[in-house]
Amino acid sequence: MTNEYDVVVAGGSVAGLAFASEAAKRGANVLVAEEHQEIGEPEKCDGLVSLRGLRKYGYAPGQASVQNKIFSALFHSPSGRHFAVNATALDVVVLDRSAFDKEVAASAERNGAVVSLGRRVVRADQKEDRMEVLVGGEKVVSKLFVDATGPASSPRRGIIPAAKYELEGDWIREHVVEVFLDPARYPGFFAWVIPFGGHRAKVGAAGHGVSPYKALEGFLAGRSFNVLRRVTAPIYVGGPATDFVEGRKIYVGESAGQVKPTTAGGIMTSIAGAVMAARWACASIEQDKPVLLERYQREWEAAFLKEMKAMMRLRGVFEKLSDSDLEAVFTSLATPKLVLRLSQTDFDFHATALLGALGVGGLLRIARVVASAEVRSLLAEG
Ligand SMILES: Cc1cc2nc3c(=O)[nH]c(=O)nc-3n(C[C@H](O)[C@H](O)[C@H](O)COP(=O)(O)OP(=O)(O)OC[C@H]3O[C@@H](n4cnc5c(N)ncnc54)[C@H](O)[C@@H]3O)c2cc1C
Repeated sequence: MTNEYDVVVAGGSVAGLAFASEAAKRGANVLVAEEHQEIGEPEKCDGLVSLRGLRKYGYAPGQASVQNKIFSALFHSPSGRHFAVNATALDVVVLDRSAFDKEVAASAERNGAVVSLGRRVVRADQKEDRMEVLVGGEKVVSKLFVDATGPASSPRRGIIPAAKYELEGDWIREHVVEVFLDPARYPGFFAWVIPFGGHRAKVGAAGHGVSPYKALEGFLAGRSFNVLRRVTAPIYVGGPATDFVEGRKIYVGESAGQVKPTTAGGIMTSIAGAVMAARWACASIEQDKPVLLERYQREWEAAFLKEMKAMMRLRGVFEKLSDSDLEAVFTSLATPKLVLRLSQTDFDFHATALLGALGVGGLLRIARVVASAEVRSLLAEG
């Protein structure tokens, strides 16, 4: 096997594989090194995603990777109030992430990339005009190096511990995602139920400073269920990294913080980052101009930075709410107009849509409940 490549990618999940597929399609000689023995395993992600977003970047899943379609989202307050958003127009599905990642890997290999399993990237050093990458015990030389190692490299701030069970229970509604907001039990996040077919669901809980398994067990107390699989994995909500590129090293996906700070959803935004990065990486190799790599960050920010900033502001307000604050905000904001507006929005751009729907009046109502710098900044923008 040659030990010289145009690009070496560390991490064979959605971001690394989509990068490899795109770069190989453009003629680059790419090696993906994945530390696990099987693509997509161990599976940790819930796979809730908008097809619209994936289609836009050329990664619509095949039928075999889609487990379920979502028609509605039900939001619950700590006291048990709730409101439903009709999601039929949002094109949201639940993916089998393991199957989806294998699809993207197959596309990368069809395009000519080498996907090598059970190989951990130990280090990557820039030496003048090349990268020297230690893959397992082997030294590999490349023009560029892509870090797609996910949470292993994501910016440290903004990590929240999470736990989830895949389980079956007769209380699970087949096409309804449920979100349980309760700052005392899940500080800074929530508990969730994502159905993936029949009466099966991915049920999780996350929160700053709590034991996620205890929070999850608390959520499940009183509900009958049968656990199919247990997963513990951190989620990332800290916003995009300041720099996606350092010399000949490129960060894509979660390692660049390309994840929504509201929901920790990162499949679509990571694939978008990978596709953009691959385009600019190939241009920089063809023209021998590493400076072109900076265009990747500019392109990603042009598409997502406004939304990411809105999500960070909403998170800033959310993290300040007590249970009673949340109850008050919930009551005053769950209006038919807002619920209708959310049902017509783009799933991937929900923060700007929510702020637009709230308008100054809605933000003032929140400001009456939470007097914080974050709400004032929302008002200033509104
Ligand atoms: C519990 C949970 C639920 C989630 N649910 C959703 C959801 O419903 N919808 C959504 O959009 N997003 C969700 N996400 C987020 C989503 O999973 C990530 O944003 C997305 O997978 C990021 O992709 P990535 O390729 O950047 O990184 P990852 O998927 O984290 O993959 C990183 C890869 O790098 C490999 N690796 C790490 N270090 C090395 C190394 N040194 N050498 C070689 N390989 C290495 C790992 O084995 C892994 O395969 C969830 C995340 C979690 C934890």
